[in-house]
Amino acid sequence: MSTATASRPEILRGEGLPRFEEITPEAVSSEIPKLMAELSEELTVLEQDLERALSKGTPLSWGAVMDPLQRLGERLRWSWGVVSHLNGVCNSPELREAHAAQQAAVVQFGNRAGQSQVIYRALEHLEQHRQTLDATQQRILAAELRDMQLRGVGLSGAEQDAFNAASQELAELSTRFGNQVLDATNGWTLKLSDPAQVDGLPASLLDQLAQAARQAGDTDASAEKGPWLLGLDMPRYAPVLKYSRRRDLREQVYRAHVSRASGKNGDALNNWPLIERILTLRGEQARRLGYANWAEVSLAAKMADSEAAVEALLEELRDAAQPVAKQELQALADCAQRQGAAEAADLQPWDVSFWAEKLRQESFELDSEALRPYFPLPQVLEGLFGLCQRLFGISIEAADGEAPVWHDDVRYFRILDGGQPLAAFYLDPYSRPGSKRGGAWMDECLVRSRKADGTPVLPVAYLICNQSPPVGDTPSLMTFEEVETLFHEFGHGLQHMLTTVERPQAAGINGVEWDAVELPSQFMENWCYDRATLMGMARHWQSGAPLPEEDYRKLLAARTFMGGAATLRQVHFALVDLRLHSQWHAGCGKSPEELRREIAESTTVLAPIDDDAFLCSFGHIFAGGYAAGYYSYKWAEVLSADAFSAFEDVGLENEAQIRETGRRFRDTVLSLGGSLDPKAVFEAFRGRQPSSDALIRHSGLVAV
Ligand SMILES: [Zn+2]
Repeated sequence: MSTATASRPEILRGEGLPRFEEITPEAVSSEIPKLMAELSEELTVLEQDLERALSKGTPLSWGAVMDPLQRLGERLRWSWGVVSHLNGVCNSPELREAHAAQQAAVVQFGNRAGQSQVIYRALEHLEQHRQTLDATQQRILAAELRDMQLRGVGLSGAEQDAFNAASQELAELSTRFGNQVLDATNGWTLKLSDPAQVDGLPASLLDQLAQAARQAGDTDASAEKGPWLLGLDMPRYAPVLKYSRRRDLREQVYRAHVSRASGKNGDALNNWPLIERILTLRGEQARRLGYANWAEVSLAAKMADSEAAVEALLEELRDAAQPVAKQELQALADCAQRQGAAEAADLQPWDVSFWAEKLRQESFELDSEALRPYFPLPQVLEGLFGLCQRLFGISIEAADGEAPVWHDDVRYFRILDGGQPLAAFYLDPYSRPGSKRGGAWMDECLVRSRKADGTPVLPVAYLICNQSPPVGDTPSLMTFEEVETLFHEFGHGLQHMLTTVERPQAAGINGVEWDAVELPSQFMENWCYDRATLMGMARHWQSGAPLPEEDYRKLLAARTFMGGAATLRQVHFALVDLRLHSQWHAGCGKSPEELRREIAESTTVLAPIDDDAFLCSFGHIFAGGYAAGYYSYKWAEVLSADAFSAFEDVGLENEAQIRETGRRFRDTVLSLGGSLDPKAVFEAFRGRQPSSDALIRHSGLVAV
């Protein structure tokens, strides 16, 4: 049924490694509408076939329902995937415009398939005959049915109309919430003209502040003489709190930041009413879908079984973190005392970053720039590939030139298993301001599957980073954070590439629950702190000298510095998010803010100040996809730390055991992907259910 043939334009080929240079903005504009029309027509035909079979009572097979749906989805994923990929790594105004112009049609097609009544009934039919399906098929089907149910496909009549209207309103409210945070952030500035007011601020920040002043009309502004324009965006806000020696200034900036979009002093940007409306609508949606509250809806699609399970985990972390966070606050006060600061006896929230930075300098001055020469990219790759060979028994070799690439910087590598090709990946390591999106990510180019004739399709990944490019003869010298980022993305890539699942709906990262998907990535980060791994790759690129022992110790110390406060902060956010979506409703007798302050009593060591309206800028849950899911950060960290501790348990120097444990990790977490319940996958690797002990230890929350 595939219409992909050699004579089709490249953008519609639908299989194989893309020839990127043929995916032009013109091709996007002219061919994607044709693809959407084709897919839409084929979906209609499929719906008609299914409708006929259902009404006649003809038994439907997996091959009659799921395979054609998968093929339709895959053709869209291949074509639109490569367009989105290029939009991220080779952006141009023309491509951005072409991409934006087609986006709505792509989303619409997904909605149509995801809300099709006929397809839903066909899936229910398969579900009734699930004894004919294998375990992987059953899990794919269950996930598909659940996703369609959560889109409201099981509703009818007035209930469905109300559901759709509320979904629409929720989408608009989220957008408005996010925009108001953005407007409030951008709407506040403070111009400083007196050098005494910028006391303590580093030169790089003064540069930024002067540039902001110039953009705002002070054309003569300079880093040395000012004026300097402060703002609430992170790149300007965070360093002011960290470095400003002017306590009054820190307080002023802090108060402005925590009260953003809260309608303070009659400000029109007020997210309070939106918060109540969003929570109320989500509660109603949940009840329409047959759940008690929105937390249950969120957890229906996650590894965590219940709100109680999430609460229990957060309580373990809170219990471990709170006493440590108190000691850390005392240590900051002691540091202030030693330096003769008047506020030592009365530290306020706007003092914490400042004194944490001072204490960090006192205890260990880690200059992250000075470490760069020890981490040239080729050496880091050698270390990473060597680790993968050691743990997973795979070899990775350069295959540059064997596949078309989208930029000269891009490398192509092959993964071999016992000499046999297993997978491949592109690595696009360097930042290209102006044409490449910031950040780092792994994305799927090809997903493991089998063609209709039975030949295997091997998985191929895109690995994208944004580190400093080489200059002249100097290779790309990485910061330690960039090394961690590369290991992180490579962990996602390993799960994509080492999968043994041949049904693409459950291969690699597909079908993996959202709160479990960061397990392999964060697992790989742990190895950056492993002595053998780190010391094996960290050598000065010119002299070949190993990383000094003292620097290694500083890296370990930096990892747990202020670890209690950091953990407690995440627990606070996660608990607030969870309980707002389970306990709060309009008639519960308290406002969302009152509920938050109640939770703050046990999850903060410095109570929120009166001005603190953090909820009004909590975009993750009110403008993003994290509603009743913020806990996932910590949940996945528990999994990854516990997985790493299996290696610690056998002894990181015990080579034979490390290899054996590595193979087991490959055969479970990396191989099984979304084909099994994540709890079963974890247990297959670890021999038991996850425990938070390792994360608590790695975060420095236990006395040693
Ligand atoms: Zn990740």
